[in-house]
Amino acid sequence: MKESDNEEKKVALVTGAGRGIGSCIAVRLAQDGYFVAINFAHSKDGAEATLRKIEEGGGRGLVVRFDVRNAAETTDALSSLIEKHPVSILVNNAGICSDAAFPSMGAAQWNDVLSTSLDGFFNVTQPLVMPMVQRRYGRIVSLSSIAGILGNRGQVNYAAAKAGLIGATKALALEVAKRGVTVNAVAPGLIDTEMIQDAPLADLVKTIPMRRLGKVDEVAALVSFLCSKEAGYITGQTISVGGGLG
Ligand code: NAP
Repeated sequence: MKESDNEEKKVALVTGAGRGIGSCIAVRLAQDGYFVAINFAHSKDGAEATLRKIEEGGGRGLVVRFDVRNAAETTDALSSLIEKHPVSILVNNAGICSDAAFPSMGAAQWNDVLSTSLDGFFNVTQPLVMPMVQRRYGRIVSLSSIAGILGNRGQVNYAAAKAGLIGATKALALEVAKRGVTVNAVAPGLIDTEMIQDAPLADLVKTIPMRRLGKVDEVAALVSFLCSKEAGYITGQTISVGGGLG
């Protein structure tokens, strides 16, 4: 980022940044020059480790706790955050899966997965979008999934949540395009994190054209680009990082 860039374009918030893809995105955005707010719900140690990594690399940030499913908690945390650190880059990364064949899927599995992705999108994005519009600058990137594009057995809840994010991305992009705010989604395939450790990886890898899992920094590199000034003419898009899937 150039010195001449406005100071208020330099704060990023990454939800669920205490581990996995979110942690890697937070570190990458810090390397890009942003002050990074590292959100966690449960992974306090992980969030603090992300911050240490950022600071060891000469970057700056802070850790902020809220559960994206909880509207009141999220609004409170965001109000305090943006008083000092106006967020112009938002990465909606928080997500969970809770897999089951649909006939045996419980209501709690359905609700937890949808609420983390979709209520989470609303609870975090809604309070931040108007200040971005007023500043005529913003970048919103949400972590969808190839499951939201292709579907996936045992993941009716997760596929619905991730497809919902794609729809929300397209609609919000249209609403704010004139105001310098871009809204995009990234759809990873199988990325090597805790989320997929219980999956039958040997069999799944055979379905990937590149015959390997993706790496967290391969997702973070795309998010970094979509968050950059240079990506200013790209909006409403969903871009896969799937080794040929999606
Ligand atoms: P992960 O290692 O399981 O990490 C999930 C992250 O989401 C954690 O940091 C977790 O934070 C956070 N989170 C979950 N519920 C939350 C809540 N209610 N409030 C705030 N944070 C919450 O997963 P990952 O693989 O890094 O996945 C990151 C994103 O990419 C997710 O949206 C996931 O669906 C998507 N994705 C992953 C893959 C993959 O193959 N790994 C593929 C496609 C899409 P706490 O621990 O603090 O709760």
